[in-house]
Amino acid sequence: MSPTPGASGLIDLHTHSTASDGTVAPGVLVRRAAEQGVTVLGLTDHDTLAGHDQASAALPPGMVLVPGVEISCQVYEGDRLVSLHLLGYLPDPDDEPLSTALAALRASRADRAAAVVRALQADGHTGVTDQLVAEVAAGAPVGRPHLAAALVHAGLAADQQAAFGPDWLGPGGRYRLPKVDLPVMVAVRLVRAAGGVPVFAHPGAHRRGPTVSDETIVAMADAGLVGLEVDHPDHDPATRAQLRRLADQLKLLVTGSSDYHGSRKTTRLGQECTDPAVLEQLLDRAAWPPVRG
Ligand code: AMP
Ligand code: FE
Ligand code: FE
Ligand code: ZN
Repeated sequence: MSPTPGASGLIDLHTHSTASDGTVAPGVLVRRAAEQGVTVLGLTDHDTLAGHDQASAALPPGMVLVPGVEISCQVYEGDRLVSLHLLGYLPDPDDEPLSTALAALRASRADRAAAVVRALQADGHTGVTDQLVAEVAAGAPVGRPHLAAALVHAGLAADQQAAFGPDWLGPGGRYRLPKVDLPVMVAVRLVRAAGGVPVFAHPGAHRRGPTVSDETIVAMADAGLVGLEVDHPDHDPATRAQLRRLADQLKLLVTGSSDYHGSRKTTRLGQECTDPAVLEQLLDRAAWPPVRG
């Protein structure tokens, strides 16, 4: 039997780099993770695979990279549209339908960013410009954390937390404008069709906004979902216990990860981890092998 990757270290399957809204470049991220005792790292930037090549090229010896993506999705709960995130591990990087869908999500992010800037300018907040937002995002698909940084940079919000408050980009905020996300059942099937492994990211992160019902998770499982990210910094103990029971009932894998964003969040690399036996099952379900340093 081959040794389980990461058996001797931490397995952190959900992190962000400057390829999306993290603050650490992919090549630096893998080295920093190794220093923190992480031996298996999932790089899961929002709606892009762009960081994988840099991360692979900088992979320290002995470290395993699990290339992935965190896909912006939506689902109807009754007549209410709820946002959710789907992790896709090890999809074929050249899969056309997946690439096309991710490009559309990035375009929607650009449209939303432009709409937020227009809305701010119309209200006389002229310090946030398209150019400032572009500088902050530095080529990454624009996320609300970039817009928040631009608000802080322009002196409109005191800090990131204020920018994510009700006056600006937070729930009910005037500049909390929607983007068009991928219907989640479509996303689950897209990831599977690309040979990848779909895992529902932070299904119980209530603080970020409304979460989905168990019925939706059952439907996602029917569509081909493989796992639930149970151990996540935004989940309290009761939420974890409930999600673990649901995963058990639906025969879904249980993952754990930090959702590291560099200095944009307080979470540390390797703060939450996945069990080596679960990693092995996850890798077994993928059409592609991970990258070994
Ligand atoms: P977006 O997908 O661009 O709408 O933005 C969602 C991103 O914003 C996620 O990566 C979250 O981690 C981040 N986010 C959401 N709420 C907050 C918050 N209150 N403080 C900091 N980051 C947040
Ligand atoms: Fe993020
Ligand atoms: Fe997420
Ligand atoms: Zn994330």
